Amino acid sequence: MSRTIPLADHRTSRAAERWETLLAGAPGVTAGAPLADTRGRALKDLRISVTDRCNVRCVYCMPKDVFGRDYPFLPQSALLSFEEIARIARAFVSLGVTKIRLTGGEPLLRRHLERLIAMLAALRVDLTLTTNGALLAKKARALAEAGLGRVTVSLDALDEPTFRAMGDTDTPVERVLEGIDAAVAAGLAPVKINAVVKRGLNEHAIVDLARRFRGSGHIVRYIEYMDVGATNGWRMDDVVPAAEILARIDREFPIEPVDPNYTGEVAERWRYRDGAGEVGVIASVTQAFCRDCTRMRLATDGRLYTCLFATEGHDLRSLSRAGADDATLLQAIAAIWRARGDRYSEIRTAATPRSSKIEMSYIGG
Ligand code: SF4
Repeated sequence: MSRTIPLADHRTSRAAERWETLLAGAPGVTAGAPLADTRGRALKDLRISVTDRCNVRCVYCMPKDVFGRDYPFLPQSALLSFEEIARIARAFVSLGVTKIRLTGGEPLLRRHLERLIAMLAALRVDLTLTTNGALLAKKARALAEAGLGRVTVSLDALDEPTFRAMGDTDTPVERVLEGIDAAVAAGLAPVKINAVVKRGLNEHAIVDLARRFRGSGHIVRYIEYMDVGATNGWRMDDVVPAAEILARIDREFPIEPVDPNYTGEVAERWRYRDGAGEVGVIASVTQAFCRDCTRMRLATDGRLYTCLFATEGHDLRSLSRAGADDATLLQAIAAIWRARGDRYSEIRTAATPRSSKIEMSYIGG
C-alpha cells in the first residue's frame, strides 16, 4: 500500500521526498499495536531536548573552547514550539511510549517550561527531567505543580575544585545541593543523581558521593565517560570502567547486585548490603546495553534520532510544519523505528571515527 503525504505544500520538497520514500512502503500503523525495530526492541522511551543551550560547560559534553560566546546555537525560530512538541509526544504515546524525559542542553533555561510540562503530563506517562541543578532550587515547586513526576540531577563531585573543574563553571556546588533539597520539598523524590566519572579528574568523588547520599533514598548513578559527539576529546584511557567504580564503593560500603526494575533500564542496579539504599552504573563503554535499548530522541529543532551516537536524524519539524496530519506523523515515526538497527556501543572501539556524530548538548543525554 503506497501512501502520499497529505502535505499542504512542498516548500520542503527534499524533506518531503525523504518522507515519501520512508512512508511509501511502510505498512499501516495501528495506534497501541506493538512496534518493534529490526532487533525486536519496543519503542518505550522518548527523550525530548528542549534547548541546545546550557549555563554550565561540562568538559565531557560541552567544552568551553568549542561552545564559547560565538557558538552558533539554534535561533528561537528553529526550536519546536511547545504545541509542536506536545503533538509529536502524543503520537509517540499512541505508539507505545510510556516514559518521557526532558533534556537539553539545560532544560530549565527554556522559558515557561512549566507550560510544556502541563501539556505532557496530560498524556499520563512517566514524566521526568534531567538538569544540572543550577536553577532547580528556584523552579522545583512550579515544575512539580505543572505535573513533573521526578528529576535527575547531574552532580559529578562534592568538593568545590573538582565540581568546578568538571563543569568548567562558577556555579557553587551548594547551589545544586539546594536544588536537590528543593526537589524533595516539592515532592519530586527520590532524586536520581548522575555522576560522570573521568579518569584523572574525579575518581576520588565516587566514594564521596556514595557516602553523602547513601541512606537518603536518592540513587547515585555513575556514568562511564562516553565518546558522545565529536568535541570532548574522548580517549578510552580516560574511561573509569564500571567494574572499578563498583570496586571502589564496595571496599568502603559493601554492595551486591539487584535485578533491573524493567527491561531496558539504563542503569545497572546495586544495593548496599547494610540496607542503606542503592547505587547504579551506566556502563555504555565497557558493558554495552544496546540489546534492550527502547529509546528515541527528539532534538530541540525537531530532528528525530534513533541513537545517542547517531550521525543523522529525520526532520520531523518540516513534516509537521508542511501540514502533515496526525496519521502521517504517526506513520513517519513508526517507519523510522521499524527501520532502526542501532547498536553503537556494541561495535564501538577506541578507533571508531567520531567526526560526524551529533553533540549530546543538542540531542540530550
Ligand atoms: S548506543 Fe545507541 S542503541 Fe546502544 S544503548 Fe545507546 S542509544 Fe541505544
